[in-house]
Amino acid sequence: MTVRDGLIAALLQVVDPSIVLRRPEELMLYEYDGSALDQGMPEVVVVPRTTAEVAACVRVAAQIGAPIIARGAGTGLAGGSVPEQGGLVISLARLNRILAIDPVARTARVQPGVVNTDLSLAAAPYGLHFAPDPSSQRASTIGGNIATNAGGPHCLKYGVTTNHVLATTVVLGNGRVIEVGSATLDAPGYDLLGVVVGSEGTLGIITEALVRLTPNPEAIYTFLAIYDDLDAASATVSAIIADGIIPAALEMLVGQGIAAVEAAVQAGYPADARAVLLIEIDGLREEVIEQAQQIEAICRSFGVRELRAAQDEAQRARLWAGRKGALAACARIAPHYHIQDGVVPRSRLPELLRLTEEVAKRHQITIVNIFHAGDGNLHPLLLFDLRHPGVLDRAVAASEEILQACVAAGGTISGEHGIGIEKRDYLGWIFGPADLAAFADLRAVFDTGNVMNPCKLLPSGSSCADIRYARGALRAIDRGAWI
Ligand SMILES: Cc1cc2nc3c(=O)[nH]c(=O)nc-3n(C[C@H](O)[C@H](O)[C@H](O)COP(=O)(O)OP(=O)(O)OC[C@H]3O[C@@H](n4cnc5c(N)ncnc54)[C@H](O)[C@@H]3O)c2cc1C
Repeated sequence: MTVRDGLIAALLQVVDPSIVLRRPEELMLYEYDGSALDQGMPEVVVVPRTTAEVAACVRVAAQIGAPIIARGAGTGLAGGSVPEQGGLVISLARLNRILAIDPVARTARVQPGVVNTDLSLAAAPYGLHFAPDPSSQRASTIGGNIATNAGGPHCLKYGVTTNHVLATTVVLGNGRVIEVGSATLDAPGYDLLGVVVGSEGTLGIITEALVRLTPNPEAIYTFLAIYDDLDAASATVSAIIADGIIPAALEMLVGQGIAAVEAAVQAGYPADARAVLLIEIDGLREEVIEQAQQIEAICRSFGVRELRAAQDEAQRARLWAGRKGALAACARIAPHYHIQDGVVPRSRLPELLRLTEEVAKRHQITIVNIFHAGDGNLHPLLLFDLRHPGVLDRAVAASEEILQACVAAGGTISGEHGIGIEKRDYLGWIFGPADLAAFADLRAVFDTGNVMNPCKLLPSGSSCADIRYARGALRAIDRGAWI
């Protein structure tokens, strides 16, 4: 009996066969995530309905020593939910209920498969929303957001996911179920919640969470600032924050990306602009009016070509549709992409943007910049066609060069997408051997059998040497196949 057959037989003994997926055409759907670089076929996938079922599956796989990979919506951009070594994928898609909303405590108890936007929609009648708003929010799950400590345009003011999680239920690699965090402030004991958030499925599987809900602001102003000069747009970003304003969001789109977004979404961005800023402020009405005047003065002092304010909710939604649909829109430029996630101090944005353009030319790769400027979180989007020989090597080389420049500028390698497979070997650029050893020791305490998403997040050691994933592989489709 193969390991795969043994794993399937053991799973069928402990859970309902209807939650066990094993046909090749079912497994193919779990081969990849939102990143174009890494793929791997799971041995088997389960789609449990309860924490008890998750724990039963984990126990079975751990006994066999099979890798266990948690999967939310698979929108991750670092290969985190890719089963590069095969094993068991546990999809949280059926654990998708909002269990309770408490408008007085401003909290929600949710299962991990709840889609981010669905939680905000459910909280809307109470004048509340879930603040972390990754651009993938119409698909990505709360479990995935917690596991990657997701950010989003509005995290500049409201903080990233870790600031909005109070407690979670976690199934550990030995099948034990623990509760971390608390509904009350200042719970005694170690801050295990802080360790679990952002752990990318390497410490356990989140099967329930208590999260904060944030009151909707009284007033919102949204501006589109249009520039003919890239440095002027970057300087505006630093000046707004230096003036004491923390906008709710401060996003930038540069050059070719603006044209691609406009062609796809018709958000009203001028296709010939060198850069545009999407600036949003919110809060009490009087405060927002005052900040709007300050922002207008700053934009004008840097020679903005035009400053447009959204006049109503429909215009605001249109401006945001452009930003949130940007990644998909760039498929018009090339069929494959690799998106980077480096962070730099805001004051270093102009030089990093210039470097990105120079790297693009040198490596003959199209690179589009659409990013969270207020956080200094660059998202160079490298666009290419994998059918062209050698293009992936050039893209990876270009991407590494940009990330190294971010680190050299006093920044770091990831602002929000996580480390996954993609950046695990870059951790040594920002942490020393003793730091990395401490991470590995911590991981071993939670995951004694080294089965939870092994070889992700930390630099690959000897046990990860024999990895059978295909970087950038294109699946050959049989002639005449229905696809
Ligand atoms: C168009 C687009 C835009 C994006 N914009 C943003 C953005 O603005 N900000 C941002 O931060 N990210 C963004 N992302 C990346 C991605 O959407 C986020 O990382 C998101 O949090 C992943 O959620 P998911 O449910 O898809 O998780 P998956 O991709 O399925 O998994 C991501 C990681 O979390 C682990 N995981 C998932 N669920 C659980 C669980 N229940 N328990 C334990 N581990 C789990 C997985 O093992 C994996 O390591 C974007 C992606 C796309 C495609």
